[in-house]
Amino acid sequence: MDIVRYLSQSEVKAHLKLEKAPSEGTARKWPKRMEFRYGTGKNGMYIDGHEREDISEKPEPVQKGEGASIMVSDFCSPDLGWLQSKNGETEARILFKAGKSRDGYFSCEDLCQQIELAIEPFEDHFPGTAIAAFGFDNAPGHQKWADDALSARYMPKYPKKWTGKKGIRMRNGILPNGQQQEFYYPDNHPEFGGCFKGMKKILEERGLTREANLNAECDKFKCPDPNAACCCRQVLFNQPDFIAQKPAIVELIESHGHIAFFYPKFHCELNFIEQCWGYAKFQYRMLPWTKKEAEMEKNIWESLDKVDTEKMRR
Ligand SMILES: [Zn+2]
Repeated sequence: MDIVRYLSQSEVKAHLKLEKAPSEGTARKWPKRMEFRYGTGKNGMYIDGHEREDISEKPEPVQKGEGASIMVSDFCSPDLGWLQSKNGETEARILFKAGKSRDGYFSCEDLCQQIELAIEPFEDHFPGTAIAAFGFDNAPGHQKWADDALSARYMPKYPKKWTGKKGIRMRNGILPNGQQQEFYYPDNHPEFGGCFKGMKKILEERGLTREANLNAECDKFKCPDPNAACCCRQVLFNQPDFIAQKPAIVELIESHGHIAFFYPKFHCELNFIEQCWGYAKFQYRMLPWTKKEAEMEKNIWESLDKVDTEKMRR
């Protein structure tokens, strides 16, 4: 189609003295007969122009340019198509210009914000009458925990001014009797005001006095048996509330009364959205080539909208 499009331009036709542009069929057959093959130029090999003909340079890796690539994140359903509100004003779709000097990288926080955006139109269609089941590929980014999630990984053994990730205090644990367990001393505590209690104290409060006196962790936290009570960290790791810690996106979706699930690892082809992306990308490739971002965005939008509900169901 690129060849047909190129040869359809009036100045090209005039220059080549063509009455009309070739058909798509001709554009497919002739280059093949002339032993051309269609493809994109491969980076990685640069010739400087003055080497002997029988010597070529070693292939050199070339930094992949950020170019003008645009990432799409969206939600679709076999009932509603690409998720949007009834009046079409709110939609879940996000176009993202990934890259250091652009929008940055699509983080777990970005995804959480988008999930909020997707729940809204769903509830607009089914106010209080349906539960959405959100399926995600089993990608590491999707498994990320919230910043205050229960994690024994870096906990100190003894009281200390310490927080979890990004200076955010860890949420409460759950004691064997079902009550909340504060992990921090109150600010007015005479000795450890505002300090993290430490694994020893946390275990003691759970009635695990023997375990509380174990080492903080085995050498480099390589415990011989993952189920053994060998060190404080491993014991906490295997506590029911720590085991039950779910990824941030699951917690968010469940807090809205909906369900989240992950497709099996390395099997994103089971996620029907992959076929939707595939069809949209095919549509995109059929459109005239462009370097202009505004045009790209328009083309992306149009290509995605060509994947209608019927195609999604198929
Ligand atoms: Zn251990």
